Amino acid sequence: MRRSTRRSYLKRQQHGLARKRQIAGTLEEWRASAFEHALEQFDEAARRLKLRDNQIAMIKLPRRITEVRLPVRMDDGTIRNFRAFRVQHNIARGPAKGGIRFHQDVNVDEVKALAFWMTYKCAVVGIPMGGAKGGVVVDPGKLSPGERERLSRRYMAEMIDLFGPDRDVPAPDVNTGPQVMSWMMDTYIMHKHDFLPGVITGKPVGLGGSEGRRSATSLGVLFCVRKAAQRLGLQLKGATATVQGFGNVGSYAAQLLAQDGVRVVAISDVEGAWRNDDGIDIRAAMNHVARRGSLRGFRGGVRMLSAAKLLELPVDILVPAALENQITGGNAARVRAQIIAEGANGPTTPDADRILAKRGAFVIPDILCNAGGVTVSYLEWVQNRMGYYWTEERVNQDLKRYMDHAFDVVYDTMKKRRVSMRVAAFMVAIQRVTEASEMRGLYA
Ligand code: NAD
Repeated sequence: MRRSTRRSYLKRQQHGLARKRQIAGTLEEWRASAFEHALEQFDEAARRLKLRDNQIAMIKLPRRITEVRLPVRMDDGTIRNFRAFRVQHNIARGPAKGGIRFHQDVNVDEVKALAFWMTYKCAVVGIPMGGAKGGVVVDPGKLSPGERERLSRRYMAEMIDLFGPDRDVPAPDVNTGPQVMSWMMDTYIMHKHDFLPGVITGKPVGLGGSEGRRSATSLGVLFCVRKAAQRLGLQLKGATATVQGFGNVGSYAAQLLAQDGVRVVAISDVEGAWRNDDGIDIRAAMNHVARRGSLRGFRGGVRMLSAAKLLELPVDILVPAALENQITGGNAARVRAQIIAEGANGPTTPDADRILAKRGAFVIPDILCNAGGVTVSYLEWVQNRMGYYWTEERVNQDLKRYMDHAFDVVYDTMKKRRVSMRVAAFMVAIQRVTEASEMRGLYA
């Protein structure tokens, strides 16, 4: 390698490493403090609701935290143990509900926070389920398909007594999808000797999954954005948007917004951000990702020097749909969008929330904005129990009804109580969980 080429190669390597460290740093920080952020959100809403200590004692903290080590035989014959968690936060309103995440950095604090948000997400949209979340500490990219299958089956087998259509119903999350759900469902059925597909959601349509699940979260985001725009007097046709993250949630959200006439001027994924002020051709971007696995090499826009700057572009709508902890005390003052629609879980920290509120940004909080996914998971569970399956049109109609109603209730609470949309969403949800918990009383 020529010296100058080598120098620029090393510079690129160092830059990449620094960027990775930066991302890892913020994520690590978030993972350590996720549950604290969640409790801070709870405390503010509980204070406004004037909850009594005994009410708080029944609903604030997770009810059951299970940690196991899953022994799995690897392809080379060795046995490796994987740490795994299932946190059931609250089941006052129905069986626990929440995804299972496979990730090398997952920890119990993060799973507790995600389970907490599931309780209040289900409550805010009014579906009769509680909150849970699961995780396995593993980099699934390093496993063979056979190892992934044995790990998935062992997870279900090891904690089988926690699960059941009337107990706790898992679903996919980061790095798990329809195939992992199918293996887990099969393991459950093999143990119980009953065909109970409602034990898990996010299954393939051919195995009891629901039509419409794939785009459900993004469709829910769109319904919320439409409502917000209406309330703010913003015409969606001709409005501008940026979308961070171009996976399941981000890509469909961008496509649906574009179909409503919104000009999506920048999109991003883990490879970087692309900007086109005339509007990105979302269909072309989706085709590119389907072919190449990411936006790398996408020619439908100019690659931005800093992907993080996407959050700060002067647009009407910003959809964070990638990671947690993206809008923080460090950049919130530079985020200029009028509507921030949280497709991701936990993209905004509490200190950023305060900054955004001060300048009057309209934040549609995650527990409301991305609840379309769990709503259609619930509809899948309902269809499994009936053994009768609906068309996509029917599923989307129900989804719209749930989302529109939830938005209106939260919006009215925001106005009446003079709080942010996030505090209002938690107030509505906490009120419902408290009521269910009080009506059931304390068995002892
Ligand atoms: P995904 O894995 O399909 O997509 C994630 C996207 O984010 C990818 O395009 C990835 O490249 C991108 N990304 C990763 N790091 C990035 C970075 N530093 N900058 C910009 N982009 C980056 O995941 P998903 O299912 O779309 O989930 C995204 C978020 O939405 C997560 O917070 C998830 O918990 C939340 N969520 C998802 C659903 C669902 O139904 N899938 C439901 C509710 C909430």
